[in-house]
Amino acid sequence: MKTLFAAILFSAMSFGAFAQQATQVPSKLNSPTRMNQAPVQADSYRCPICGYTGTKAGDCPKDKVALVKVGDYYCPECYMTAKKAGKCTMCGVDMKKMVPATASTTKK
Ligand SMILES: [Zn+2]
Ligand SMILES: [Zn+2]
Repeated sequence: MKTLFAAILFSAMSFGAFAQQATQVPSKLNSPTRMNQAPVQADSYRCPICGYTGTKAGDCPKDKVALVKVGDYYCPECYMTAKKAGKCTMCGVDMKKMVPATASTTKK
């Protein structure tokens, strides 16, 4: 009688511990702090010719050249883009870094 009671108590305790652990794991994974810390700033893309700024990759509606992602590099001659600074593989000129619209408007 005593051992049966102990067995029930033990199983109840271990079940409780398991349930507590099971509820803790998903709440840790769903922690919203990581999501909130991520920058919400969206990528912007700019035309290397006229400075047109868009929020998506694509072509400038005016110049029909590929928009350059802000932070990427582009060739001022042929408008080829690259992720890193260096020489253009097509014409050998130095690649320029695409700066955000706000920075270029201030220097004008
Ligand atoms: Zn343009
Ligand atoms: Zn080039």
